[in-house]
Amino acid sequence: AASDHDPRSTATRGWALHQAAAELLPGGVNSATRYVGHPYAFGGGDGAYVVDLDGNRYLDYHAAFGAILLGHNSPIVDDPVRAAVGTVDLFGLGVTELEVELAKRVTEAIPSAEMMIATMSGSEATAQAVRLARAATGRSLLVKFQGGFHGWHDAVARNVISRPELAYGRDPLSAGILDHVLDATLVAEFNDLDSVRALFEQYPERIAAVIMEPIPHNVGALVPAQEFVEGLRELTHDEGAVLIFDEVITGFRHSLGGYQEVVGVMPDLTTFGKGMANGYPIGGLAGPRSLMERFDGQKGDVLLAGTFNGYTLGATAAIATIDHLRAHPEFYTRTHALGARIRDGLTSIVTELGIEATVAGFGGVFSLYFAAGPIRGYRDLMRNDDQAYAAFHRRMTDKGFLMIPMSLKRNHVSGSHTDEDVDRTLEAARDVLAGMK
Ligand code: PLP
Repeated sequence: AASDHDPRSTATRGWALHQAAAELLPGGVNSATRYVGHPYAFGGGDGAYVVDLDGNRYLDYHAAFGAILLGHNSPIVDDPVRAAVGTVDLFGLGVTELEVELAKRVTEAIPSAEMMIATMSGSEATAQAVRLARAATGRSLLVKFQGGFHGWHDAVARNVISRPELAYGRDPLSAGILDHVLDATLVAEFNDLDSVRALFEQYPERIAAVIMEPIPHNVGALVPAQEFVEGLRELTHDEGAVLIFDEVITGFRHSLGGYQEVVGVMPDLTTFGKGMANGYPIGGLAGPRSLMERFDGQKGDVLLAGTFNGYTLGATAAIATIDHLRAHPEFYTRTHALGARIRDGLTSIVTELGIEATVAGFGGVFSLYFAAGPIRGYRDLMRNDDQAYAAFHRRMTDKGFLMIPMSLKRNHVSGSHTDEDVDRTLEAARDVLAGMK
């Protein structure tokens, strides 16, 4: 896999494509985090590997931010999608058999789900969740955690990877968000129930919902203390607020029933997307009938609309992915074991080399923080040495191992990674980290 190409060369097809893209797409990409200092241009993928336009192969842990769950171009999903092309396309009236089949699977898989709606993306799912919570409670405020990412829309696009002076304060991810919308979102500290309790005390009967990634993977992997999740459940229940688990990353990845199944704590609403269709765009929101029926166009009061919601290829891909996971529970034992091997291996390497770093993760997900442990909350993450991570990332990529370029993010083992892949990854990481001393 590792290739001896010069990754900084400008005499490549990838470089030329980036030059062309820069003229036509802002920043040369269609989503801002796809450009982080290096002009990647991929032409294909196969299982655990991706290939760039110049033919260099990389072992892929980026996994399209986790949207790839089984592996690239997996026939498990692509064959049924191919078979579906040219059959049911799009009608804009009624419902298809596929949409009902998908809803059956999702409500069977996710413990807290009785009904679902399908969206095209995770952002749409969280936007619907927030609006539904506001409608159901008649309240306006939303609590999110510093470090949590829930998509690009106004209510949630703030306080992810903040500079120290902006953390917990006003840190919008975008210009153009109205002041009162920013003010309606309050920010708490993950794994710190008192920080949430303080907001409920400060704004009595005004908080509609608490939204959380059960493991905030958008800052790597802050694994929640059991008491924290249980305490949040109790607190939101007592305060009459809706608890939303944003399982867009954790859903279907950490377990078929998402992280709620792992911790045994049930949210009111669950959002999901990314890996559930192994690279095809689809997301959704699920919850109890009492809440979800507000989307009923006849009896309810919350708008459910979307020309492409529940479209054939996304539904087909999601059904195929979920059916595969249901029939192959060893997907979870395998990916969890490989993830644990990587985490244990990296921990031994940094310990032996005396590098101040902490390895975190869950299941097939792993993160390397360049900061001393323990890392429990966002405050601990602010000690991370971003430049050290950037150097680690750059050198791993040069050796043919693709990880997410931003520090404080995470990497993913898919159903296609093997023990041998992990051996090679650890060997490369040892070389790279020894060279960074
Ligand atoms: N929620 C979480 C936890 C995410 O990580 C993301 C995307 O990174 C989203 C929501 C938004 O999903 P999408 O990019 O599909 O709109």
